[in-house]
Amino acid sequence: MAMCYFLFVYLFYEEDALLEKYVKKGGMGMTQKVLVQDADFIGKNKDHLKWMQYALKLAERSRDEGEVPVGAVIIKDEKLIAEGWNQPIDRNDATAHAEIMAIRAAGEVLNNYRLPDTTLYVTLEPCTMCVGAIIHARIANVIFGAPDPKTGAAGSVVDVFSADCHNHQVRVNGGVMMNDCGQILREFFRERRASKD
Ligand SMILES: [Zn+2]
Repeated sequence: MAMCYFLFVYLFYEEDALLEKYVKKGGMGMTQKVLVQDADFIGKNKDHLKWMQYALKLAERSRDEGEVPVGAVIIKDEKLIAEGWNQPIDRNDATAHAEIMAIRAAGEVLNNYRLPDTTLYVTLEPCTMCVGAIIHARIANVIFGAPDPKTGAAGSVVDVFSADCHNHQVRVNGGVMMNDCGQILREFFRERRASKD
């Protein structure tokens, strides 16, 4: 099974220059780790593909606005309560990642700075800042799409979720619709490189 993941991840990132850097860092084992899904949770949650698809639509919104395409939604009681898409350039705000925008919107909806019993879907593995915000917000579950071998903080580069210093544990699953979630990023960066040539 591990080998299948290795092959899959390798093929997935084959075109990506990041892979070379990643392999050199010896991070591939970490990618296997973040892709191991909690079969119980994923199996019971029939909507996870629907919500990731929704997050992907929000990633397209980022792309259409010239931002790195990442989208996120927050679900509570099987209902969507907040959405966010990456928009740091537009907002002149380095913290305006999709997850942060969704967390802010969910806080307004619930009238609470904590978001217990919620699930956050995001198309890309969260960075250290977003993992920190997710923990502070007491989000129960995180499901992400594509692993991020450059800045992923759910196991790809570092595993902030597993650090002993937190008194809140988040259930994390990665690799849901990773192909589609990664594809939009690859296309975005390819087009950006092409436009600079
Ligand atoms: Zn982030």
